[in-house]
Amino acid sequence: MAVVEVEGLCKRYGETVAVDDVSFTVEHGEIFGIVGPNGAGKTTLVECVEGVRRPDRGRISVLGLDPLRDRARLRQVMGAQLQGGGLPEKLRVGEAVTLYRSFYADGADPWRLLDELGLAGKRDTAFEDLSGGQAQRLSIALALVGRPRIAVLDELTTGLDPRARRDTWELIEQIRDTGVTVLLVTHFMPEAERLCDRVAVIDRGRLAALDTPGGLIARAGAPQRVRFRAAGPFDAALLDGLDGVGEVRTERGETVVTGTGDLLRTVSSALARHGVPATETRLETATLEDAFLALTGRAPEEETA
Ligand code: ADP
Repeated sequence: MAVVEVEGLCKRYGETVAVDDVSFTVEHGEIFGIVGPNGAGKTTLVECVEGVRRPDRGRISVLGLDPLRDRARLRQVMGAQLQGGGLPEKLRVGEAVTLYRSFYADGADPWRLLDELGLAGKRDTAFEDLSGGQAQRLSIALALVGRPRIAVLDELTTGLDPRARRDTWELIEQIRDTGVTVLLVTHFMPEAERLCDRVAVIDRGRLAALDTPGGLIARAGAPQRVRFRAAGPFDAALLDGLDGVGEVRTERGETVVTGTGDLLRTVSSALARHGVPATETRLETATLEDAFLALTGRAPEEETA
């Protein structure tokens, strides 16, 4: 069942075309990623879905509701995360969740939610005294306290350390496992690759591609890399012209072979044939970041010109 349907969505700000004829559907229970560089139009797109921005053209349906016309009903079924620093500094964690809980007819138990999010000990802490990870978890709590059927999470782990980021990812998976559909906006590709069932790549307002992370990686035909350390003298020319071998270069004493096909075997057997012992041999397959670069010609952290 489609939870979100977007068809032919367009939105400009004066001369700037922020969203240009974008269509997609999000299925029930998916973690659906919206990825793209800064300025690509992701936030505008999601704000139209949330009903806080009016599209110039196009049709949007969320659980059968029109985000603008049925905004009050949409609020009851959609949980949106706070944008950075969106709470009064002195507001305490416990006050924030009970306040947000009061907006919903059938919400979650706020204390249980805080407990699940590891914030039980922070009930009396003011927003301004939370760490980045705690503020992020509070923001997720506020998005979930209305027991939504769809949660919109925007740049969820920006500024978090790797540990807090991993914890947050696990949390998102747990949320999905309870049947909540998640719309995840990010420009951090490892996050999309790890979490998303499907990913919409937005570039300059347009939908550049829509597929599973694996599908995007395969489709982009991004190359793989084999890295190794030759123990002893080694002439890189012995790899030249082998089937699937592209570029061969040296990086900090490591040989890096870029190519396609069964690259690991091709390289390993060539080294064995020439009696070159190698250590730390490993294969790096293409990532969503590589696919993104291949699809858009830009790195995800680059600004849209
Ligand atoms: P993203 O979320 O991918 O970073 P945005 O949707 O925020 O992209 O922005 C898309 C484009 O629209 C950018 O060029 C941005 O500068 C512009 N834009 C966003 N919001 C406004 C606004 N309120 N007024 C004018 N231009 C805007």
